[in-house]
Amino acid sequence: MSLFKNVLVQFEKAAVLADLDPDLKMVLLEPERIVTVKVPVKMDNGGLRIFEGFRVQHNSARGPYKGGIRYHQDVDMAEVRSLASWMTIKCAVVGIPLGGGKGGIVVDPKELSKGELERLTRGYVRLIAPVIGPEMDVPAPDVNTDGEIMSWIADEYSKIVGRDEKGVVTGKPVGQGGSVGRDEATARGGFIILDEMRKDEGFKAEEMRFVMQGFGNAGATMAKLMVDAGYKLVGASDSRMGIYCAEGLDVDELMAFKASGDNFANYDNPRVEKIEGRGILEKECEVLVLAALENQVDSGNAHGVKAKIVFELANGPTTPDADDILKDRGVRVIPDVLANAGGVTVSYFEMLQNKDDNYWNEQEVRDKLTKIMLEAYAGVRKHAEKHSATLREGAYLVAFERLAEAMDL
Ligand code: NAD
Repeated sequence: MSLFKNVLVQFEKAAVLADLDPDLKMVLLEPERIVTVKVPVKMDNGGLRIFEGFRVQHNSARGPYKGGIRYHQDVDMAEVRSLASWMTIKCAVVGIPLGGGKGGIVVDPKELSKGELERLTRGYVRLIAPVIGPEMDVPAPDVNTDGEIMSWIADEYSKIVGRDEKGVVTGKPVGQGGSVGRDEATARGGFIILDEMRKDEGFKAEEMRFVMQGFGNAGATMAKLMVDAGYKLVGASDSRMGIYCAEGLDVDELMAFKASGDNFANYDNPRVEKIEGRGILEKECEVLVLAALENQVDSGNAHGVKAKIVFELANGPTTPDADDILKDRGVRVIPDVLANAGGVTVSYFEMLQNKDDNYWNEQEVRDKLTKIMLEAYAGVRKHAEKHSATLREGAYLVAFERLAEAMDL
């Protein structure tokens, strides 16, 4: 099933539960604006290549569009559109005054030199500049984009408008208007919710073995936070290989290994079992954290998931069919629109700090993030319980209420 079909199924299920006004549903199913650009880039060898890029602005009823920019060879419009609509829901779930957007460029950034990547980024900004801005649409990092790329965007946009407008993007390095704590925000926000749920369900952290699918920005950081709190890392994977060890994996060693640019296919340790493809998702554990890409748990492997909790740190990693199977099997799914909302929440903090030119310390960021995440979790849980629904449906119910209010007003 395509990602966009997944979005439609999730919307439809929650709309029925929420008894959503049909006009509102119609509006929420369509993005307000779709921009497609073709970016010419002079390559290092003197040749020219044209890259396709997108920016989708889904809904601005609650505030400026907000959402990351993804660089990936498989990016397409349907994917960006799906991710943009999830951003609208996500911002409403955590109650921050932002709408939803998303961007992407069809490129494998590993094939480009740094200079080519910078020229591509700046070219993309020149083409989307008319529709972005601190009060209009504020991009951020996503898969394969980082603080440095955000600095290029802020710099190029500031040149175009002729003034310093670093508030046009979030996720900037701290020295260039970024917020402390943004790097770890997605992981920390996720950890806050997972740990609250653990306490609610009466488990000890030490009883929780976990598998981390995807060991990038979000996944590796969350693995570290979990291990520091007493959870036991037994499995991890990257795009090349899964590794599993029932006695436990050393998170610091794995982080250092990945930071060296290597991949798990080359990870040599006689105690570790190597697992190809998505096999790691079916290994013994209490918590399965999905921190890679979309459509990872589907009807083909959902029956084999051993975890009691599936945690969606990635966007859209569980298909609707798999959602139903997991629900029937009593597996709790913490949905993406709540689970990874810490990133956009601290992005919102960055926007506030840029606007006031007043910067917060790490403790302030953590305290404010914790408050927002715990309130969001409590609200989602309450709505889910009231309707005997899943947490995903509970999250959509919260979001629909807030979006309906904003659109009515
Ligand atoms: P990243 O590029 O830093 O890391 C992605 C990781 O997934 C890498 O380790 C990669 O090797 C691995 N991976 C890719 N394909 C895989 C596969 N088929 N099997 C196993 N591993 C695979 O990206 P990230 O920023 O950590 O984002 C990961 C997910 O989290 C994405 O879905 C993204 O949209 C979501 N997310 C990230 C943020 C953020 O602030 N970084 C915020 C919200 C949501």
